[in-house]
Amino acid sequence: MLKIRSSLWLMAATLPLAPVYAADSVSYTAGPNKSKPNPYYISNRAPLVASPLVRLPAGSVQGQGWLKELMNRQSSGLTGHLGEISAWLQKDDNAWLSKDGKGKYGWEELPYWLRGYQNLAYQMNDPKMIAEAKVWIEGALNSQRANGDFGPLHYVSGDVRDFWANMIMLYCLQDHYDRTQDNRVLELMTKYFEYQNSLPDEKLIPNSWQHVRGGDNLYSVYWLYNQTGAPFLLEFANKLDRCTLNWNRTDGFPNLHNVNVAQGFREPATRYQQTKSKADLKASYDVLAKMRSTFGPVPGGMWGGDENSRFGYRDPRQAVETCGMVEQMFSDQIMNGITGDTFWSDHCEDVAFNSLPVAFTQNCDALRYLTAPNMAISDDQNHSPGIDNTGPFLMMNPFSSRCCQHNHSMGWPYFTENSWMATPDKGLYAAIYAPTTVSATVGDGAKVQITETTQYPFRDTLNFTVSTPRAVNFPLYLRVPAWCKAPSLAINGKVVRIGAAKNNYIRIARIWKTNDRVALHLPFELKVVRYEANKNSASVNYGPLTFSLKFNEINESVDSTKTAIGDSQWQKGADPAKWPSTIIRPGSPWNYALVLDNSNLSKLFTVQNRPWPSDNYPFSTESAPIVIKARARKVPEWKIDQFGLVAPLQSSPVKTVEPIEDVTLIPMGAARLRISAFPVVGEGPTANDWKLPQVTMTASKPLPSVEVDWMTDESVPKNSNDHDIPRFTWWANKGTLEWIEHSFNRPRPVSSVSLYWFDDTGRGECRIPQSWKLFYKDGDDWKPVAATEFGTKRDTFNTVSFPTVNTTALRIEAQLQQGVSGGILKWRVK
Ligand SMILES: [Zn+2]
Repeated sequence: MLKIRSSLWLMAATLPLAPVYAADSVSYTAGPNKSKPNPYYISNRAPLVASPLVRLPAGSVQGQGWLKELMNRQSSGLTGHLGEISAWLQKDDNAWLSKDGKGKYGWEELPYWLRGYQNLAYQMNDPKMIAEAKVWIEGALNSQRANGDFGPLHYVSGDVRDFWANMIMLYCLQDHYDRTQDNRVLELMTKYFEYQNSLPDEKLIPNSWQHVRGGDNLYSVYWLYNQTGAPFLLEFANKLDRCTLNWNRTDGFPNLHNVNVAQGFREPATRYQQTKSKADLKASYDVLAKMRSTFGPVPGGMWGGDENSRFGYRDPRQAVETCGMVEQMFSDQIMNGITGDTFWSDHCEDVAFNSLPVAFTQNCDALRYLTAPNMAISDDQNHSPGIDNTGPFLMMNPFSSRCCQHNHSMGWPYFTENSWMATPDKGLYAAIYAPTTVSATVGDGAKVQITETTQYPFRDTLNFTVSTPRAVNFPLYLRVPAWCKAPSLAINGKVVRIGAAKNNYIRIARIWKTNDRVALHLPFELKVVRYEANKNSASVNYGPLTFSLKFNEINESVDSTKTAIGDSQWQKGADPAKWPSTIIRPGSPWNYALVLDNSNLSKLFTVQNRPWPSDNYPFSTESAPIVIKARARKVPEWKIDQFGLVAPLQSSPVKTVEPIEDVTLIPMGAARLRISAFPVVGEGPTANDWKLPQVTMTASKPLPSVEVDWMTDESVPKNSNDHDIPRFTWWANKGTLEWIEHSFNRPRPVSSVSLYWFDDTGRGECRIPQSWKLFYKDGDDWKPVAATEFGTKRDTFNTVSFPTVNTTALRIEAQLQQGVSGGILKWRVK
């Protein structure tokens, strides 16, 4: 601890009436002292673990600067006007407004949207929006039935209720309670949880989204317990946990859908608050880490999960949903509160600054379902099976992508609300950095405001100004991000020497007076991150930002009704002319490899601050307030592939004969088309040629032919039922005659073929085929190889040898067993 001003210490015990001055002190610390709960805000109630940080009530933090501008755009754009577009938000025949839970529209869409919209309305202080939010809050509060159930009567099967949409509405009601202390919220939630608790296990969230996302229900149970202390809630929490998907499993993956993971992974950590089991806490860390390492790693904080993550699809061209990003950010905020670990704030900033802004058009009047770290086209075409989902999912369309269309709303409002937290020792913590003003009760009960003025993450200084009605003693905590080695600090212009970061919190204890100022400098440093597991590709970071190649984006407006996906529904009055969709195509080359020789980073890269944009919107290619000059060389063989996607990376270093060019990198949060994981240029024997696909595969079921390395590589499956490696299947064809072809880009001799069949007996409906045959291409004809034995053994390679043929392609025809499908794990050619 370093004293920055000596003051007289007086013993309060002996001189109780004398003024007591604590010495001002600034120190690194592992986190706030949590021996006593914060007296002003609701923390965890015993026997739950003591809260290391305490959530401030909704309404405590206002966005300023660029953050306010983003929310302005959201409110004049899609979030603010979705009520005029989306059929699920129309009041006519809406089950969220009916007493009996019946109505045509009534599921997740309304609460998804309301969760962000309500908070946005207060951020904007817009009476019309506030009134609109209240209509739906009143609807939900008035919908409770005699048995305690509320909301639309949606069923997963028979009389088994689907509680998923209610889980989201509970967040809306809690935010409403924070602002109004409306006791009806506590009453509704108490009766509702009594009702849920009365159900037998088999009827409590047994399947569908609700089963996977039971952690959201659990969150609200603890929220209510902390409010009321009703003992049955802890019993009910045990039951909910038991009925929720097991996110603690250590073998394999609990779930592979990107949104499920982004919200479900925190269930064990939520549960830890009651069990106090370190294993529960660890499970949440492990699930996220495993997703990021198996389906990545990639820049931008997320992973490859374009609907579902698929084994073998880890390239940065794989995407995530906008829902996945906002859920991940919200989870990071919750995890921050549960653990006090600054890792979660760092991670929230990574997703918020580098991934989320470009899920939207600049005016925030349209969004796309999927965004990837490497994407050179954002259009209305189907890119499956290059990405998992079939349809126009890369399109910026305000009429489409039903879940993200509504759920995106919470992204920036929740980011704002959770950027500050109270601490148990009656202080405040700047958890996530952005321009904001927080109003909160601290110290001896004074209500203070702290205004955080900054252009972070584009600039490295944050200025905090205190406003208080009287001098008040409280600790202010500031986060030291993991990437920052040596922060520096000044209080009222006087530099405080704090030295290199020893911990991730800076604690400033002081008697604060109005207009006291703290300047925090978090020096940004250049860093090249190498992704060995992703073809040794490279990203360029500077402080919290990751950078993308700047290339031209050509925008084209098209009719939203023509390219909306099949399950979209819009209101009769929705005007597609007012709400067009946008296709974005590249207008200049994007296929560059970075020049990274051994010179130090400041020689390789030049960071240039650019003027702050006059419209306060920094997330665009034209007005990004910081750029990095770099050198790169084109890789002509790196192209858009047959699925309309940036072809997968190949192992760096890569050879190229193209000249060195000066290129500009911009924050990836400003690049709607982007290359943010680059190949690296190399020379000599250790560098690799960029190979055109050696092998192309086609089949009677779609299969991404450029990504079949996994099928032909040298690895050996554990057994035929190995679910942890990629597989090809003819699913859901059953009992049929199927084929798969394996083409070479030049003729080659072949004398044997080995197949490892997929068979998931006991788990799924794929089996060894009944029989199969092998053909080779001779001119334009397929000829059978001269062999008679075609093995169908499980758990091993089935090898067929034959007199050598010279050929450009092989073809397997497999007769599937009756009533089942089949597939292949490995196909080797010798
Ligand atoms: Zn979505």
